Amino acid sequence: MDIFAKHAGLRASYDGLTATSPRNPFEVVIERPVSASVGIIEGRETLLFGTNNYLGLSQSKKAIEAAVETAETMGVGTTGSRIANGTFGLHRKLEARLAEFFRRKHCMVFSTGYQANLGTISALVNKDDVLLLDADSHASIYDGAKLSGAQVIRFRHNDPVDLEKRLARLKDHPGAKLIVAEGIYSMTGNVAPLDKFVDIKTRHGAYLMADEAHSFGVMGAHGRGVAEVQGCEDGIDFVVGTFSKSLGTVGGYCVTDHDGVDLMRLCSRPYMFTASLPPEIIAATMAALEDMQEHPELRTKLRDNAARLHSGLQKAGLKTGEHVSPVVAVTLETVDQAVAFWNALLENGVYVNLSLPPATPDNRPLLRCSVMAAHSPEEIDHAVTVFAEVARYFGL
Ligand code: PMP
Repeated sequence: MDIFAKHAGLRASYDGLTATSPRNPFEVVIERPVSASVGIIEGRETLLFGTNNYLGLSQSKKAIEAAVETAETMGVGTTGSRIANGTFGLHRKLEARLAEFFRRKHCMVFSTGYQANLGTISALVNKDDVLLLDADSHASIYDGAKLSGAQVIRFRHNDPVDLEKRLARLKDHPGAKLIVAEGIYSMTGNVAPLDKFVDIKTRHGAYLMADEAHSFGVMGAHGRGVAEVQGCEDGIDFVVGTFSKSLGTVGGYCVTDHDGVDLMRLCSRPYMFTASLPPEIIAATMAALEDMQEHPELRTKLRDNAARLHSGLQKAGLKTGEHVSPVVAVTLETVDQAVAFWNALLENGVYVNLSLPPATPDNRPLLRCSVMAAHSPEEIDHAVTVFAEVARYFGL
């Protein structure tokens, strides 16, 4: 039996895509960043509109200095799991800072945001429980669900009525019910009605987990995410997120007021069976968190930039999502069209993410842009002009 036979379908789509595209969209190399908003791609300065570096903090001076100093004094890795030799004082310090930032009792830090979802969901529910997942949930939420063994029920994306209908049917189910939603959806930039979900979970005796990966540091007066904007933080049982977007480093977290999480450290496999974050990353993350707290104006600038890109693309006749958020996705109809459009943007100095089905909602391809506080208005206007010219060229 050919071990790769199972990839035949994927192989055919991959070969088809790479045969028609002048470059492989899955092998773009950012040779090096020049600044938060510009990188060298194919030897040329290219405007970056496809990173998740919302506040530009991957280039934070304070974070860089903290990382260098910590690497020099502590070395570059922990060589072990959080529950063995991989907890340094710094891990505890970061957990205390995040708990304080989110005004929660507890925080667990994971090695990635992916693992934070996997590790939280799989430790909270098991085969006797039910997970209610927004249909457009990130892969890490679906993978966490699989690892948990819980029964999975998908509700219609961002639809409180559908969620409530499904929860009502579970009235006599003896297990725990955990609803999972995101703050901002990574592909479309849609914002979840978390306040409505809080109301529903309270009436049905369920728990609610929010993945604020794309909204932490980005939304809310203090950067605590969509729940802060909607004034419903107290109703969210578990908030999960990542350092790899607004803070510009790597790692994930779960914060909560539920005391039961102390044992999660001993039963969450993606937390236990992997090496902990290296000390220089923790130091950089804490410095970036400070930067984020000291510079609320970054969030104002980000919001203005998001509105500028969103309205610019709409005026150019392109189909964007309904919500204005730092993820601005242009929907196209066919994969061929999207691949050609994406190549033309890159050839004209604008890098965005090409997102293809089945990773996209509605099975339609997306050109996913992410806006940064570090973008200048001129850079945004330039990107809009390039989008408009490419759309005209392709007769869209
Ligand atoms: N949740 C969501 C909604 C995401 O978009 C992502 C990353 N794309 C993750 C979790 C995983 O985060 P990380 O890349 O930091 O592991």
